[in-house]
Amino acid sequence: MSTPSPPSISPSRRAAREALHARFAQVERIGSPSQIALLSGFKRTWTEAEFAELWVEAVRRSGPTTVNNLYVHVPFCKSICSFCNYERLRPTSPGALKDWRDRVLASIEVMGKAARGIRFHSLYFGGGTPSVPTAAMLGEVFTALDTHFAWHPKAGRAIELDPAVMNPAKVAAMVEHGFEQFSFGVQSTRTDVNLAHNRGAQSPELIDRCLNLLPPPHEAKVTVDVLMGLAGTTPADTLADLEMLLSHPRRPWVDLFHLTPTHSYVDSHYGGVRARADDAVAAYDQAFDDAVDALCEQHFYDTRRGGSHHCRTLVAARPTLPEGVRRLGVWSSEVRERWQRWWTAKRAPRRMGRTAYCQVPTEVRAPLNLLGIGPSARSQVFGLAMAQTRPHAGESGPTVYAGHPMQPIDELRTFVCFDVRDRGEVVDAHLEALFGMTLAEAMPEAVAVWQESGFARPTDTGWAFERGRPAEVARSLLWAVSDDHLEGIIARKNRRGR
Ligand code: SF4
Repeated sequence: MSTPSPPSISPSRRAAREALHARFAQVERIGSPSQIALLSGFKRTWTEAEFAELWVEAVRRSGPTTVNNLYVHVPFCKSICSFCNYERLRPTSPGALKDWRDRVLASIEVMGKAARGIRFHSLYFGGGTPSVPTAAMLGEVFTALDTHFAWHPKAGRAIELDPAVMNPAKVAAMVEHGFEQFSFGVQSTRTDVNLAHNRGAQSPELIDRCLNLLPPPHEAKVTVDVLMGLAGTTPADTLADLEMLLSHPRRPWVDLFHLTPTHSYVDSHYGGVRARADDAVAAYDQAFDDAVDALCEQHFYDTRRGGSHHCRTLVAARPTLPEGVRRLGVWSSEVRERWQRWWTAKRAPRRMGRTAYCQVPTEVRAPLNLLGIGPSARSQVFGLAMAQTRPHAGESGPTVYAGHPMQPIDELRTFVCFDVRDRGEVVDAHLEALFGMTLAEAMPEAVAVWQESGFARPTDTGWAFERGRPAEVARSLLWAVSDDHLEGIIARKNRRGR
């Protein structure tokens, strides 16, 4: 299949549009392609009852390929790390946790009634730190979710933890309610670094204790995050942390992230000198990569290059037996293959085939509904709305949903922006299956400009896009946003005095 080129754009139209982009850039900082995807026209607020009505409509529109995921936001952390941009709060009293629980239980009841008739394919507890509430509180919320929503038999369940607040009762509540994916941040085990980042204790002993509390590898997957470039750490420190993690019998997976230093981070940790922060991140170079490869080889880990959100994932090949076999000196690719076949047949089925949680339709290539419960949780009702739950953590007032009504064309534009960001290509057959039109049919003007400028080129299946710095890509993607949307944002910002 060859992709027809759209008609080229007239010089006067191009000039008018570029003037609009310049006005837009004066009121809105263009940060990333995903930010462009969220520029979805006018904003509004729905009461909880009104938002539930959207879910009734979503149920009506749901087809056999529709994916429904549920996210619960727990905005509490035992301490507030200085490198973190998530919404989080220290629970200053037991009352704050009870308020959170009551608000979440009330939303579960309302939304459970509205979403009757669809099954949910995955559940994710994120934060903040979902392991901060007590085991009893978590159990109440888990039970309400099981009671009020219908779940696909293979629905995956994932939860984020803080090793410092874990105990056997919390693990038991999570396991009892089917959680089989656990994750927590290690970042660094250096005491001085954690102190400097207001992170609290994060010792190897604490991490070891947490890993040992969690179910064994054939029952659950455990993933830990490690940050590269935290002020005060070196590649050698990070390699020592990786050695500790990769040699642990619990066999955690490791997500290695590059730190993205914000202005305030550069100010507080590098005296405002961005070059120093950039140097700290750049120290994680090819030699570091090679050393990680060697560690993976030694401990039977595979590595995957990350997508947009992380740099690299270290995947435990298979637990325990390979080390034993290796010690006997009979390890070979044939032994490994046989071991993996045995593992797949006998052990892994207990958690294999579970549906993974995701937040954007580009990951499932299907209509995706995301129900967000709890302060600041994000919801997406496919083709109808994108919204965030309010009030934010620690604020009072009735639960409402603030965001954008969505039309199918907004959903398509969002889909395209995420595909360009994450894959560097748009496949017309995917757009036609989901939205009934090709990219050139949906946004002929944008495609014409992208092709002229060399940002996009036609392929056999659709369009391939140049990879560039996020802000440059975002600037090109502005062409995907309608005049009305951009005018609306400019007018709103001007009214508010920017
Ligand atoms: S514990 Fe995690 S979510 Fe909480 S402030 Fe630290 S990094 Fe952010």
